[in-house]
Amino acid sequence: MKPAFEDMSLQIPAATAEPEDYTGEDGLLYCGKCRTPKEAYFPADKVALFGRDRHPAECDCQRAQRMEREAAEQQRKHRDKVEELKRLGFTDPAMREWTFANDNGRNPQMKTARFYVEHWEDMKAGNIGYLLWGSVGTGKSYLAGCIANALMEQEISVKMTNFAAVLNDLAATFEGRNEYISKLCRYPLLILDDFGMERGTEYGLEQVYNVIDSRYRSEKPLIVTTNLSLDELNNPPDTAHKRIYDRVTEMCTPVCCSGVNFRREKAQEKMERLKKLMND
Ligand SMILES: [Zn+2]
Repeated sequence: MKPAFEDMSLQIPAATAEPEDYTGEDGLLYCGKCRTPKEAYFPADKVALFGRDRHPAECDCQRAQRMEREAAEQQRKHRDKVEELKRLGFTDPAMREWTFANDNGRNPQMKTARFYVEHWEDMKAGNIGYLLWGSVGTGKSYLAGCIANALMEQEISVKMTNFAAVLNDLAATFEGRNEYISKLCRYPLLILDDFGMERGTEYGLEQVYNVIDSRYRSEKPLIVTTNLSLDELNNPPDTAHKRIYDRVTEMCTPVCCSGVNFRREKAQEKMERLKKLMND
């Protein structure tokens, strides 16, 4: 059997020398490019143990290259993670475009959305959500989408869905309704878009209540967008709606989205463009 140090010495390769490298005054190999050593001496008492007096070390340019490689790898991992969150988090891929970066700067409530993202830790801790309400086409869903995208880009998982999709999923679920609902409640942030459009059946309202109430009990924030007015939310038509609205208004701080109807404006723009095309 060979003594242990011989085995150790085999494991320590010598530094590889490039043609421009040179030996410094200290006897170590130096990089010809950055003029820092590519080797280091072992402490004197370890020399016998390792069977040689030196081991390879990173010169400055090798270190810079390694750090660049590692940063690129981290970037790639981050992009993959964000991609995965967006794939799972949005019911519609178009929502991925609803970002602060793509915003036209004209929605006065955009700062409220930014505030939410910037204070996410407080929002999470305080279980604070938004109730984005206002008439059709005022960019409420876009605002919610900006929040979702920005948080996902920080690797925070968010689910942005609506009750039409939730009710569909509940009807089709294999894992069972309770499991589906508790999955929704595990997301640090849940966004329910177009709330209040699912009027109707007793069954539907019961499911809506189940989801809202479970989220309430999970003590995690909820953001809701709705075309309902605050007045309608405060004066529900019956007790079935009342218990749902009560929960929502307790969990979500109202944010009024009013003013310019962006959708109508867009339609107007299209019309103008079409007119121009027809005239040309
Ligand atoms: Zn170098």
